[in-house]
Amino acid sequence: MGKKKGGGEKKGKKAPRKRKRIKKSSQYEVTGDKLTRKKVPCPKCGAGVFMAEHADRWSCGKCGYTKWKK
Ligand SMILES: [Zn+2]
Repeated sequence: MGKKKGGGEKKGKKAPRKRKRIKKSSQYEVTGDKLTRKKVPCPKCGAGVFMAEHADRWSCGKCGYTKWKK
């Protein structure tokens, strides 16, 4: 059992390295007015319930409590 070295391997044909352009993170775009990045717990329902973040406010889907952003 012998291993062949470099059988059929092409030499010297490496693709030139190009610097890849890093796309700026577009993952955190606001879609509509719904944005859930930071989880804000509802002061009325407790720490287990988080409020939905909007552009200018948070609102709880459980009790309807709205907390306005300053
Ligand atoms: Zn609530």
